[in-house]
Amino acid sequence: MTNVAHRDFTERKPLPAPNSDFYELYETLDPQELATVKRVRAFLEAKVAPVIIGMDGYGCVGGSLALLGFVQMEIARVDPSFATFIGVHGGLAMGSIYIDGSEEQKQQWLPPMARFEKIGCFGLTEPLVGSSASGGLTTTAKCEGDTWILNGEKRWIGNAPWCDLSIIWARDLADNQVKGFIVENKTTPGFSVDKIENKIALKVVQNGHITLKDVRVPEANRLQGGNSFRDTAKVLKMTRYAVAWMATGCAMGAYEAALKYSQERLQFGKPIGSFQLVQDLLARMIANITASQCLIVRQAQLHAEGKLTDAHAALAKAFCTAKCRETVAWARELLGGNGIVADYRVARFFTDAEALYSYEGTYQMQNLIVGKAITGLSAFV
Ligand SMILES: Cc1cc2nc3c(=O)[nH]c(=O)nc-3n(C[C@H](O)[C@H](O)[C@H](O)COP(=O)(O)OP(=O)(O)OC[C@H]3O[C@@H](n4cnc5c(N)ncnc54)[C@H](O)[C@@H]3O)c2cc1C
Repeated sequence: MTNVAHRDFTERKPLPAPNSDFYELYETLDPQELATVKRVRAFLEAKVAPVIIGMDGYGCVGGSLALLGFVQMEIARVDPSFATFIGVHGGLAMGSIYIDGSEEQKQQWLPPMARFEKIGCFGLTEPLVGSSASGGLTTTAKCEGDTWILNGEKRWIGNAPWCDLSIIWARDLADNQVKGFIVENKTTPGFSVDKIENKIALKVVQNGHITLKDVRVPEANRLQGGNSFRDTAKVLKMTRYAVAWMATGCAMGAYEAALKYSQERLQFGKPIGSFQLVQDLLARMIANITASQCLIVRQAQLHAEGKLTDAHAALAKAFCTAKCRETVAWARELLGGNGIVADYRVARFFTDAEALYSYEGTYQMQNLIVGKAITGLSAFV
């Protein structure tokens, strides 16, 4: 048996290139959409991958939601920070205006945002209110004639330290409902942002702590369709949809890097990828990725059929981020000591997965949404 192993190694054929599309799910796209995804991958590999390591401080695509998902997956496969920036700007901020804005608001804000001339953020979370945002927001909005006065704090807000506009969710003191407001960051008195330092994940995304002190916003900047937390949740459904794709992309990036490493790294005179226990890890990784891909492609089909529910998106977000977290940990393990060095791509995927797992609603919150849907009983207090 020793001789066989030795012969296999010395006479080995060229090894297959790492490929995380094991069940050929890219083939579910029509040829034009597939060509778009391939262009995105080529661009990211040529322009983003070479510069993203060591970078600590940094177009929307028309088409189906499946295409949008594939593109977000491609971006996260190269860099989850970049995908998060797109998700915050194009999903949370533009999505709020698209879903809850009036026709005039859409005309005014969406074209410059789609051209990246104006960048947005989404302020829901507060220092003392994270998971309980649905019932517990303390930022207030008081109406005086045709002006609203906002007071409060928002924490963790992606893009906030440098972007142009914020969607701020605040509780109307008159009817106690959560409403959305477009606040222009750079020109509105009373609006200030402190950058959150020393993050270990998504280091390229800048997150901010926003303080709103008697911030005056015209009625024209209140999202006309955003009149309750239910309207915020419509936005979150779509962005959780996207985070499930991003988490899958993050796992793919880590898996492909680990697989390549396993083909090149020699121990005991052989590539570590030839060892049974290493192959077991790789098989577990591709199984996680393939299960996630099948789920998110079905998620896109449900959306196209008009059947995607909050619980569908919550389940996809919870499952894919949990499987991503497991997969990147195995990838890190497979690189041994090099797995904790940022120069190797796996370390970045490993830390970024932690943020994907917790933001846009933690794993537990998503499972409570699913739990309510399947039991008919709400565990939210
Ligand atoms: C990198 C990053 C980017 C972010 N970007 C944004 C952004 O752009 N805009 C924005 O508004 N927010 C943003 N967030 C905030 C994010 O959505 C919150 O961190 C998240 O919702 C969790 O809130 P929390 O951190 O306050 O944790 P907490 O709510 O304090 O939760 C702590 C722990 O307790 C658990 N827990 C809480 N309640 C329950 C319960 N009832 N049952 C079981 N477990 C429970 C949670 O699951 C979690 O494990 C971002 C966060 C991060 C880390």
